[in-house]
Amino acid sequence: MYDVLIIGAGPAGLGAAIYGIRAGFKLAVLDQSPISGGQVLNTYEVDNYLGFSQISGSDISDKFRGHADKLGVEFINEQVLGIENADRVKTVRTDKTTYETRAVILATGAEHLQLGVKGENEFAGMGVSYCATCDGAFFKKRTVAVVGGGDVAVEDAIFLAGMCSKVYLVHRRDKLRAADILQKKLMALSNVEILWDSEVKEINGSDIVENISVFNKKKNESSTLEVNGVFIAVGVKPVTEMFKGLVEMDDGGYIVAGEDCRTSADGIYAAGDIRKKPMRQIITAVADGANAINSLQNYFINN
Ligand code: NAP
Repeated sequence: MYDVLIIGAGPAGLGAAIYGIRAGFKLAVLDQSPISGGQVLNTYEVDNYLGFSQISGSDISDKFRGHADKLGVEFINEQVLGIENADRVKTVRTDKTTYETRAVILATGAEHLQLGVKGENEFAGMGVSYCATCDGAFFKKRTVAVVGGGDVAVEDAIFLAGMCSKVYLVHRRDKLRAADILQKKLMALSNVEILWDSEVKEINGSDIVENISVFNKKKNESSTLEVNGVFIAVGVKPVTEMFKGLVEMDDGGYIVAGEDCRTSADGIYAAGDIRKKPMRQIITAVADGANAINSLQNYFINN
């Protein structure tokens, strides 16, 4: 029997793990992947986490995991399928077995959204990618398009511009959503061209991606762009499907919980990107992990 099982080994889960183990709890982190870090692993460069003016996503993930390992946190690489018996003793069901625990911290983060256009599924892995840091090297000296206007799209475009001959950023509005500092870095790159007010309508090719059909909404004009790859970065959705019915969620599937990370179910906490909150950053995810442990300590006083 565990005091607390933490589901997810991203910044929120690892933050909770180091606070939890220091509080003396018998705990484990469950994650299907043996490599910790969550979405941060797909981030080329992190420059807004306190203490690190510039560090790669994989390096900061290694540091987070190294910290947890040093404190002796137990990691279990199994896929969590659901939580049953959400009473005082909760049962966490995985693809291999079940575990009993007094409390659970849900920290499964978020995953990328699909664009939903023709050719997207057909060419997945054949020119269509959702991870520039994973697949960018396949497009060295080639032409690619990035779709989206948020932090991820702009970071991806900057990263790809360092190895591709040309990068198109296709954005549906006339303003980027990304942080100002990222926008400035992007604008300074000579091999990046932004297609404003534009939507990708179709991804085309024979065996691999050859071009995309783009529609400019302001000019009411369609065009074809020759590209070898399309990187889709149009946002994320929470990974909460397996917790439906267990805790209250909003229409987008985000778990309703305040700064104290308490959900609608006793002894179940939500930390990081899966929580309904205004700002999803590494630093806020780590803070959620600490807050969840603090709330849990109060819960254990009475339970
Ligand atoms: P995001 O901030 O939600 O941005 C998604 C972008 O995709 C928006 O520009 C949106 O356009 C566009 N988009 C959405 N649906 C679309 C569609 N169907 N067709 C075309 N474009 C579409 O998502 P994100 O960039 O993945 O970032 C996710 C979260 O992680 C954010 O909270 C972000 O701040 C955070 N993050 C932070 C950092 C950092 O601080 N360095 C790095 C990475 C991620 P509109 O602008 O028109 O809505």
